[in-house]
Amino acid sequence: DNIILEVKNLKKYFHVSGGVLKAVDDVSFSIKKGETLGLVGESGCGKSTTGRTIIGLYEATGGSVIFDDIPVHKMNNEIRKKFARKAQMIFQDPYASLNPRMTVGDIIGEGIDIHGLYTGKERRERIYNLLETVGLNKEHANRFPHEFSGGQRQRIGIARAMAIEPEFIVCDEPISALDVSIQAQIVNLLMNLQEEKGLTYLFIAHDLSMVRHISDRVAVMYLGSIAELTQSGELYSNPLHPYTQALLSAVPIPDPEVERKRERIILEGDVPSPINPPSGCKFRTRCKYAMDICSQVTPQLKEVGSGHFVACHLFDK
Ligand code: SF4
Ligand code: MG
Repeated sequence: DNIILEVKNLKKYFHVSGGVLKAVDDVSFSIKKGETLGLVGESGCGKSTTGRTIIGLYEATGGSVIFDDIPVHKMNNEIRKKFARKAQMIFQDPYASLNPRMTVGDIIGEGIDIHGLYTGKERRERIYNLLETVGLNKEHANRFPHEFSGGQRQRIGIARAMAIEPEFIVCDEPISALDVSIQAQIVNLLMNLQEEKGLTYLFIAHDLSMVRHISDRVAVMYLGSIAELTQSGELYSNPLHPYTQALLSAVPIPDPEVERKRERIILEGDVPSPINPPSGCKFRTRCKYAMDICSQVTPQLKEVGSGHFVACHLFDK
C-alpha cells in the first residue's frame, strides 16, 4: 500500500494539578504518501499535541506511530535518526520558533549540519537555493529574523524544514498568525512544494475554512478524540457529526444567497475541561441530539460510508 504514516490508538496524557489531562485520547488514522490530512478543532482539543507526539517532540503515553512500516518506538538509533530527518514540523508562530540571535542562513543550515548533509560551498549553495525556493533570495541569508515580516518568517520556517529533505511535515497552524492576505500565499507555497517533492502533510488548523483547499481528507478533533474523518469534499457537503455541523455552520459561504438562507448552529457553552471530561461522548454537554446512551458509552469512530468515519451514537445500527 501507499501509507507512509500510521497512527494507532495514540495517547498522550499529562499529569497536572487536579488530575490527568488526556490531551490525545486514543487517536487513530493513516496518511498516504503525497496526501494532506487536515486536522481541525478548537484550541485545546489536542491537535498540536497529536502532531508533536507523532514527530517525537513528546513521548507517547500509549499507542504507536508507524512510519514507512516501522513502529517509531521500535526503531534503532540509526533508523530513528533517519526518521528525525524525514519527519519535520512547521510551527504556528514563526518568530518564536526562530532563534533571534542566529542569521537566517544559519537557522536554515542548522539541520544540514546536524545531519551532516553538506559542508562549505555546497552548504552555502543549498541555503541560497532554499531561500529562492520559498520566495526569498540569497541576500537574506545574512539577516536576522526580526528584520522580516510575519509571512517572510514563515517562509524561513518552511526553508528550515525543507533543508533536510523531509518526506512528511506536520504543519501546525502555519497560517493562523498571518494576515489574511498572506495566508493564501503560504498555502500555495506549501502546495507547490508538496507537488514538487512528493511531500506528505498533516495540516493542523482551528477552523475548517483554512484546511479546505489544501486537504485531501480532514479529521475533526474534539477534546482529544477524532469525531469525524472523511474526504475533504464529503466533509463539507455531507458533515455527519453534530460537532462538525456546528463548526461548518460558522464558516462563511461566499454566495450571499446561500449565506442568507443558512441556519447557523451556535454551540452552547465552552469546551469542557480536558481534565475530567464528560463521560461517554465528550461532546454531549453541547450536543442538541444527546441521548441517554451518550453519557454512558463512548462512541467509537466507525465507517458509515466509503471512507467516511464518524464517532456518534446517532449512527449506531
Ligand atoms: Fe451528540 Fe450523542 Fe452523537 Fe455525542 S454521541 S455527538 S452526544 S448524539
Ligand atoms: Mg495549537
